[in-house]
Amino acid sequence: MEKDSNYRRLESLKNLYENYIPADNLDNIYKLTKQIQPIPEIKLNDMFRFNNLIFDLDDTLYSKTEQLGDDYSFEDIDNINIPIEEIDYLKDLSEKNNMYIVTKGDETLQRRKIEVLGLEDIFTKENIHIVPLKEDKKEIFKEITKGTPGIKTYVIGDRIDSEIQYGNEIGLETIRIMKGKYSEMTPQIPEQEPNYEIFEIINLDYILYNNNFFDEDLA
Ligand SMILES: [Mg+2]
Repeated sequence: MEKDSNYRRLESLKNLYENYIPADNLDNIYKLTKQIQPIPEIKLNDMFRFNNLIFDLDDTLYSKTEQLGDDYSFEDIDNINIPIEEIDYLKDLSEKNNMYIVTKGDETLQRRKIEVLGLEDIFTKENIHIVPLKEDKKEIFKEITKGTPGIKTYVIGDRIDSEIQYGNEIGLETIRIMKGKYSEMTPQIPEQEPNYEIFEIINLDYILYNNNFFDEDLA
């Protein structure tokens, strides 16, 4: 399937990266140590740094529109899931990045979703923020970035009128995931324009691990 082959491609790229070691400490240049491919040098990119990755929950980490819809009960939450390859991918990301969930909604429901999805194994308790309905996510975004100076922060979510807008308003990198009922929305103000758009969580690789390298060397 399309998704599987895409995932395998990303996996093999990661293996390639792992054969790079620092040539020296100048200019953050990494050199290929094993001559697998005629790629002489690549620049250090975001893969080697720690980023803050702030994820929305509904229709970002799992497909809420498909799996729950708008009217659902506490019991319905038992049936939601994230495909195993995406869980593995998130675990992988969590080894190299600071991972956060910032979700808005009813505390009990959102907690139960996180538990059922198995996300408690990936996101630490203190990095899971459930924002009450009458508040907005911007304050939490500010707190996270204030506590981690010098670290690049990406906000990943499906709502251009929420996380994308708030992220843009405070100068974060914004990634819109085209999932669920809000994927049809078009930006009404410049702040609702994301920096990037993706369709699947695993597409984050294209953004975090340097686009150019993918396009030129693995097309
Ligand atoms: Mg959402």
